[in-house]
Amino acid sequence: MNVPFLDLNAQHKTLHDEIFLALEQVYDKTAFAGGPMVDQFENDFAEFCGCSHAIGVNSGTDALWAALSCYGIGVGDEVITVPNSFIATAEAIHNCGATPVFVDVDPQSYTMNPEQIEESITEFTQAIVPVHLFGQTADMDPILSIAKQYNLKVIEDAAQAHGALYKNRKAGSLGDAACFSFYPGKNLGACGEAGAVVTNDSDLADQIRMFRNHGQSSKNIHSIFGWNSRMDGFQAAILQIKLKYLPSWTDARRRHAQKYYQELNDIQDTILPKEMELNKHVFHVYSIRTPQRDTLMRQLQEKGIGCGIHYPTPIHLQEAFFHLGYHHNDFPIAEQCAREFLSLPMYAELSEDQIHYVTNQIRSIHQSQQMVA
Ligand SMILES: *Cc1c(COP(=O)(O)O)cnc(C)c1O
Repeated sequence: MNVPFLDLNAQHKTLHDEIFLALEQVYDKTAFAGGPMVDQFENDFAEFCGCSHAIGVNSGTDALWAALSCYGIGVGDEVITVPNSFIATAEAIHNCGATPVFVDVDPQSYTMNPEQIEESITEFTQAIVPVHLFGQTADMDPILSIAKQYNLKVIEDAAQAHGALYKNRKAGSLGDAACFSFYPGKNLGACGEAGAVVTNDSDLADQIRMFRNHGQSSKNIHSIFGWNSRMDGFQAAILQIKLKYLPSWTDARRRHAQKYYQELNDIQDTILPKEMELNKHVFHVYSIRTPQRDTLMRQLQEKGIGCGIHYPTPIHLQEAFFHLGYHHNDFPIAEQCAREFLSLPMYAELSEDQIHYVTNQIRSIHQSQQMVA
């Protein structure tokens, strides 16, 4: 049997006719850069997140950069975030001219450890960017209360958490603003690049609408420095269709996670993802932890099972950030995760047989290793 890590075709086959009809409409209307499709998707996505505004942009990375920039964060400022994320989180902070300041993560949820924030706050700190890693929100209430005490903005990196819940509140509606990615492999994915900022802050929304369109407040009036980061009309049309199916895809991901849990939870030395109390995890990534990660990964691949590592090098140890002066062991939990994480196949269209095949292989690899030991 073959179980790819991700199978976008499985999803796209079922939506082919619906999507091509919508693409034809965009084509006929020539609504390519921004336009009515983007407006409609923005309305639907804002409602989905329980926010008053969604502003479509060209990527999740741009969404982070736009939100930080439009809050006036720039040279000389510090922004607190985590080292175990996709590089884009820290990259966006750097691109504003600000300095990312990392804090370690909680060993169970793998999201920002609120207890480590205060010691990292300086007179230069302007914002906190928690990452809702793998589809589970960070522990936001303590983060928000520290932010309030020190007058800091909170910008959620929700690129992996479309539809996740924290104490019955939607990911995206928790901080001052939140950034989503619609990269093809995300839980809600375009057929190309796209992203969005969502917020209840009307002033910020106005700024970001200008920022993504060369700083224009009206035609040919450039009121602020911006960029070209308009959302593509074809992508908006596709995303609007896919958004209708997202709740059922999320249910399927959660069922798959449940099955993985049932079939793997008695395996020693293997830590399974934990859904924290009062959270709804949307399982963008299903990452298990094991000290034998590299051997397990190689043997699973030999059996036709696609795996991933999110992420093999924590951001503070990436060459691009050497100038910040971080060292090995600065963030022991994030570094242990980088050594031990192994992401298993996870998408709505996975079958029970496929999951069972994956868990059976893990079980037999584990048994043979124990015999060797
Ligand atoms: C995917 C991702 C991003 C970047 O989104 P792009 O649309 O690829 O630019 C940012 N942060 C996290 C945590 C992500 O997973």
